[in-house]
Amino acid sequence: MQDNIIPIVYEHPNAAQTSCSTAHTWAKKPREPEAGEKVELIARIKNMLIEQDAVLVAHYYVHPDLQDLAEATGGIVSDSLDMANFGNQHPAKTIAVAGVRFMGETAKILNPEKRVLMPDLDAECSLDLGCPADEFSAFCDAHPERTVVVYANTSAAVKARADWMVTSSIALPVVKHLMAQGKKILWAPDRHLGSYVQEQTGADMLLWQGSCIVHDEYKAQELIELKAKYPLAKVLVHPEAPRAVVKLADVVGSTSQLIKAAQNTDADTFIVATDNGILHKMRILCPHKIFLEAPTAGQGATCTSCSHCPWMAMNGLLNLAEVLERGHNEIHVDPAIIPRAVLPIQRMLDFAREIKLPTRGIGNA
Ligand code: SF4
Repeated sequence: MQDNIIPIVYEHPNAAQTSCSTAHTWAKKPREPEAGEKVELIARIKNMLIEQDAVLVAHYYVHPDLQDLAEATGGIVSDSLDMANFGNQHPAKTIAVAGVRFMGETAKILNPEKRVLMPDLDAECSLDLGCPADEFSAFCDAHPERTVVVYANTSAAVKARADWMVTSSIALPVVKHLMAQGKKILWAPDRHLGSYVQEQTGADMLLWQGSCIVHDEYKAQELIELKAKYPLAKVLVHPEAPRAVVKLADVVGSTSQLIKAAQNTDADTFIVATDNGILHKMRILCPHKIFLEAPTAGQGATCTSCSHCPWMAMNGLLNLAEVLERGHNEIHVDPAIIPRAVLPIQRMLDFAREIKLPTRGIGNA
């Protein structure tokens, strides 16, 4: 075993013989409200957002109802960094985050004086779970000569141990910038994104071996077969997908970059290898184009994966309404960590401004 491989502790579908071991997570997926109930819930949430001086920020991977509601109420649907930035710039006193825990934490780190609520605090991320702060800190201690670059999908404590935070669309410029300074990099937690960046830049990178349970499931052979059926289709792939799948892509990019590619690429049909929550936005922006999900089942499949994140699926209208009503599920980040955790985030934001990369559109998972 290489010295940079650390066992990952999270419930991967492969862990169970007969069923997907994220079943406990799926079990927390909120019930789908009936049509009439949905209308009433949306009206109630809209009122509560106004009454509580709150703004809803949602990720592209959450339920379409939440994406639409965020936009209809003056909030935002975007990637995690835009979500946090938006909350930072918006005057609202409360930020309701429909996404996963690290997004709520990032919003809190950037807005420590604001109340940050989430529909379900158990909405995690396999990348975050697979990079415990104590093990990561020991890994950093073992390689003190390396500059520590972490992906947004990490806990506040892991960010507090990093020199830089990156998201998927700024990862390449940041690593090139560090390379130009002769820096060696310690990268965490996503091994697929890390090896993609390494391949593109030639940087000296030591990779933590985490992965996203959703993107890990895309299958190259089945994608080749699907491409054969749709020879004119363009393939859009998020770099958290395995290398064999990335190699088949016409466009590799973050969520925001893939949405832009869907809009700007001259094709009628797209095969999309990222969480299928993103298809909602793509179909709204490109109503005459066809979007197909990249295959996850097939040779070597560990479950009949549905191309959807079980933790993102924990967000719904019902638990959002409940959270606003009861004011619970508030995100807390240890105040002692915040001043350190904000540094790698701020460094990235400053760099984005320096290279004139708009922060709106810097994607993450
Ligand atoms: S889709 Fe993957 S990277 Fe995104 S929150 Fe879910 S597990 Fe994490």
